[in-house]
Amino acid sequence: RNNAEKFEFQAEVSRLMDIIVNSLYSNKDIFLRELISNASDALDKIRFLSLTDKEVLGEGDATKLDMQIKLDKEKKILSLRDRGIGMTKDDLIKNLGTIAKSGTSAFVEKVQSSGDLNLIGQFGVGFYSVYLVADYVEVVSKHNDDKQYVWESKADGAFAISEDTWNEPLGRGTEIRLHLRDEAQEYLEESKLKELVKRYSEFINFPIYIWASKEVDVEVPADEDDSGDEEETADKTSSEEGEDEDAEKGEDEDTEKKPKTKTVKETTYEWEVLNDVKAIWLRSPKDVTEEEYIKFYHSLAKGFGDEKPMAWSHFTAEGDVEFKAVLYVPPKAPHNLYDSYYKSKSNLKLYVRRVFISDEFDELLPKFLSFLKGIVDSDTLPLNVSREMLQAHGSLKTIKKKLIRKALDMIRKIAEEDPDESSGKDEKEVEKSSDNDEKKGQYTKFWNEFGKSIKLGIIEDASNRNRLAKLLRFESTKSDGNLTSLDKYISRMKPGQKEILYITGTSKEQLEKSPFLERLKKKNYEVIFFTDPVDEYLMQYLMDYEGKQFQNVSKEGLKFGKDKTNKELKESFKELTKWWKGVLTTNKVDDVKISNRLDNTPCVVVTSKFGWSANMERIMQAQTL
Ligand code: ADP
Ligand code: MG
Repeated sequence: RNNAEKFEFQAEVSRLMDIIVNSLYSNKDIFLRELISNASDALDKIRFLSLTDKEVLGEGDATKLDMQIKLDKEKKILSLRDRGIGMTKDDLIKNLGTIAKSGTSAFVEKVQSSGDLNLIGQFGVGFYSVYLVADYVEVVSKHNDDKQYVWESKADGAFAISEDTWNEPLGRGTEIRLHLRDEAQEYLEESKLKELVKRYSEFINFPIYIWASKEVDVEVPADEDDSGDEEETADKTSSEEGEDEDAEKGEDEDTEKKPKTKTVKETTYEWEVLNDVKAIWLRSPKDVTEEEYIKFYHSLAKGFGDEKPMAWSHFTAEGDVEFKAVLYVPPKAPHNLYDSYYKSKSNLKLYVRRVFISDEFDELLPKFLSFLKGIVDSDTLPLNVSREMLQAHGSLKTIKKKLIRKALDMIRKIAEEDPDESSGKDEKEVEKSSDNDEKKGQYTKFWNEFGKSIKLGIIEDASNRNRLAKLLRFESTKSDGNLTSLDKYISRMKPGQKEILYITGTSKEQLEKSPFLERLKKKNYEVIFFTDPVDEYLMQYLMDYEGKQFQNVSKEGLKFGKDKTNKELKESFKELTKWWKGVLTTNKVDDVKISNRLDNTPCVVVTSKFGWSANMERIMQAQTL
């Protein structure tokens, strides 16, 4: 086109597109899910703006917040139109090509190694999945602040943008036209599209229409010289439709006089709605099936393959602050959960009375629970205020508090329902059902994916510290290679043992050889192994549990009950300790003491009670280097 401006894709985007175009990935269906999810986001945005400014919606058809699918079999075009916020010329340039999302290169790497494109939506580059099925794509868009533009590209490293002077005006919104590849013609079949919308987009909160064909019987004037044969065929057709009575009547009349009309099949088109927009969270939990919860999760998580969430919780909060919520524990931690922990955003979608407000509302959940997914729909928050005012609203604190409680309950339940967790205790009580098979090992799985979040929670959230400590898992000198908990530790404590004993280090193997454990092992005390760097920080915050103090066995203060030999030993080695103190001048050690904590090893260096452990020194050194 002569008025087209040409642009090059940003290098990472271009690489991604090459991969998509040449991909042998068989699940090409995902492109529709991505397009519908973008349309839904765009509709959410305009609806949000309309809360404070009704004018933005315009009038007539433009006020209908929906999306429409059309299939053009002759031109081989699949199009999806939405009445969302639309894109200005600048938006088109930036969003669809010149600025790569932060996750793009991580995703390119991942796809190159796994070939799996399913997670594309999570990396903020879902749009480009259109090139799985199309070799040429046009995006027509109209934003309130700009004229209508067309973006187009054949995925050849470049795209063009032109002011739209030839298409029908959209009013507002976006229409994506996919010129389908020869091998993707199946996406011109209505039945295929209907099936895909059902599968992937059932929980989209806006109606999705398809321009659907329908075979109808129409009465047309019968030709004067029609032969009797043809009339019979017409009668037959209508009797197949179950109108036997009429057909018989027709026959009766037929013997009397010639009919003036006949019935023929004709194809007409009409908009058919494909989804039921009743929000799942408004329904009563007992009416929602497991399958529906799983599907809803997949719609929120933007495609995690077929993996089930580990757990979910659907509840209504009543009282001063009313809201409904569905929370999920995902099957896996996202790829960068702990790399950018302090930058991570909450994954909850906030609605106010069914209207989507934001999915970047950090006031809803603390950082350590940002791995959860779900939605919160509040009846108490005001609708017609700015986001900033909402963020400052008092009831958010109450919502947050309740969400944390419910989230921790949900996680605790994963442990309670996991037969592995109760093994060794009430083994008889664990029923052997298939349900149990599914739940077996779930908590270990949870712990491996999200355990660090629980630890960070203990550090950050003093008010829930005890609840979180209950969820803590670790190995110990008695756990036999399995994970164990503080409650189980306490149940195994020796009579008279007052403290919970632990040791920190780089690995279990290293710690097992530690001289600090010699005597403890011999005396049959259990010692917890903490081997994650975060554990050092954790233990600065976790002072006690169920009224029992923690004691690092490599620090001073370890007591073995009353030991009578101690006094005599001290006396007889007095000279030696004095000599040692002289050799190790005061700035090397604080003190030299006789101790009964060792068995074979002659001496160890112990750190002071309130100072850093040797392991902490190591961690700090590694960090400053
Ligand atoms: P994501 O949806 O994760 O942001 P996509 O690659 O799917 O990533 O889309 C890129 C961007 O393009 C979106 O963030 C949005 O700004 C814009 N966009 C895509 N489709 C539409 C649409 N139908 N209406 C308005 N903007 C859109
Ligand atoms: Mg998207």
